[in-house]
Amino acid sequence: MNWCPCGYAGSGDGRCHCQSGVAERYANRISGPLRDRIDLWVNMPRVEPDEYIRSVASEASSVVADRIAEARARQIARSGVPNSRLSGRTLRAACALGPAEQAHAVQLAELEGWSARGIERLLRVARTTADLAGCDRVEATHLDEAARFRGPSDRRIGFEAVS
Ligand SMILES: [Zn+2]
Repeated sequence: MNWCPCGYAGSGDGRCHCQSGVAERYANRISGPLRDRIDLWVNMPRVEPDEYIRSVASEASSVVADRIAEARARQIARSGVPNSRLSGRTLRAACALGPAEQAHAVQLAELEGWSARGIERLLRVARTTADLAGCDRVEATHLDEAARFRGPSDRRIGFEAVS
């Protein structure tokens, strides 16, 4: 989605000429409960033509696909189902958070004011992040990475959240 009708809000280059409040109202058309159901929010900044033309080849899709297949196999071996099917107690068991990681997760959730559903999404994404890294336990770095994929909360909706 764009963050405003013209599509330039948050680009930081002053090209957005939407009137004050327009971008916020535009972004708020997606309700809080709907935002809460989206696992991964990724900000895709505009790619400058020069950057696009000169960029070197990134990781091959087949390499990424292999990594995903390995992570999925870890999930099935551990829980019998992929992480997307875990919730509540089974999700917490799969994460195997130590006391320090539990405290860190609580701190993140309190800071952002997440609902129980939001916390579950954090844990599920953190579990998958750890699987992609080949880690049996979810560590603080995985929680932090998952938190970066959480969307704009009700308190900070709008293009400021992605700048
Ligand atoms: Zn705009």
